[in-house]
Amino acid sequence: METLVIDRARRSFVEVAPSSHFPLQNLPYGVFRRADHSDPRPGVRIGDFVLDLRVAEERGLLADASLSRGIFASSSLNAFMALGRQNWVAARRVIADLLDARTATLRDDSSLRAAALLPVDRVTMCLPCEIGDYTDFYSSREHATNVGMMFRGKENALMPNWLWLPVGYHGRSSSIVISGTPIKRPKGQSMADGAERPVFGPSRTLDIELEVGALIGPGNSLGAPLSVDRAMEHVFGLVLVNDWSARDIQKWEYVPLGPFLGKNFATTVSPWVVTLDALEPFRCPAPQQEPAPLEYLRPAAGSDGGFTYDIPLAVTLAPAATTQVSPGSKSMDRPAEPLNAASGTFVENSAATICRSNFKYLYWTIAQQIAHHTCNGCNLRPGDLLASGTISGPSPDSFGSLLELTWRGERPLRLPGGVERKFLQDGDTITLTGCCETAGLRVGFGECSGTIRPAN
Ligand code: CA
Repeated sequence: METLVIDRARRSFVEVAPSSHFPLQNLPYGVFRRADHSDPRPGVRIGDFVLDLRVAEERGLLADASLSRGIFASSSLNAFMALGRQNWVAARRVIADLLDARTATLRDDSSLRAAALLPVDRVTMCLPCEIGDYTDFYSSREHATNVGMMFRGKENALMPNWLWLPVGYHGRSSSIVISGTPIKRPKGQSMADGAERPVFGPSRTLDIELEVGALIGPGNSLGAPLSVDRAMEHVFGLVLVNDWSARDIQKWEYVPLGPFLGKNFATTVSPWVVTLDALEPFRCPAPQQEPAPLEYLRPAAGSDGGFTYDIPLAVTLAPAATTQVSPGSKSMDRPAEPLNAASGTFVENSAATICRSNFKYLYWTIAQQIAHHTCNGCNLRPGDLLASGTISGPSPDSFGSLLELTWRGERPLRLPGGVERKFLQDGDTITLTGCCETAGLRVGFGECSGTIRPAN
């Protein structure tokens, strides 16, 4: 697979802080709205700025990439994503050159720069593409084992099919939202242990799922499966995904057809699509699989299908502001907006990191997910989202859901300030982050964040 890795010695004329996720070597794509409320349009992130690709195209700055005319006139990235890898590489080369410290075009033209480069705090991020279909896998062996142990016991933790195929289900794309969108606590049916009939009401066990999603570029025709060796050529890039889950609703409804209303009320994605080109320096061998998978899931030696990426991931929880009764006294949880901090009545609790995991822990790779998804002839289309499933690692602090972190609520998390959590409370904010790092090079995803609002 042809990728364009930008030499790490290259710098942009746009100042990029050493801690930034977005140096010249990243150049992720997103869709944003300008402060003047014009149409959403595609952009590329560099440091704390966004390059407006529609303006860049209109001013002829991308001519050398020889892309289809008006490809960035769209309010989504779907058309560009559909062009495929050769065009993505051409665009990346031209955009990297345009932003390079040695290129005068934008660097020395302040009016062009003002039109094409916008401070990121002056724009509003939108979904990067129209997501037609959303599939959610279940590809972390540690996650599947933990959940299996909780619900079926240690002996039967993994279902008999799990080591033979990447288990997945069709999710719902209509409720996928961009980072920062408030999440309303869902209502639904649940059945308490030992109860005789179910009840309807707000979920009491609202949870997160730390996932990474692959956005599909060129798809496949109906009836034409994609091979595990060539599957990665169909991936435009990756985003962080929080697959919010109402465990009480899920537990009662999932038999026998799987997740439904406990999952489809909201799924949050991060705004910047990190390309496989940017992730190339962090490529690493996929985990050994035993038993060896069936042939259609077995990558040839050295093919792109046999690799994954070393992407450290973290989850922070900022609990709802708490009421401070008097200095030194015990604070009470307050499930609502904080009052004016200046009044001193309420305090914001600081965010605590509750999980550190890594994309590389996944047992089934994206290439295997795609090969399996299409093996029956099912067609993927540009903009489809394939989420990994909760990414849990081997140690208890690497579990990617509260269900596992608190072991069904039996071991509450103890957060700074004496706050405890089993599941999410109204006002809590969850933020996922992901950032690769090696020898001074940082390539990150930014944040995928959401705050819980009360049920109606
Ligand atoms: Ca999930």
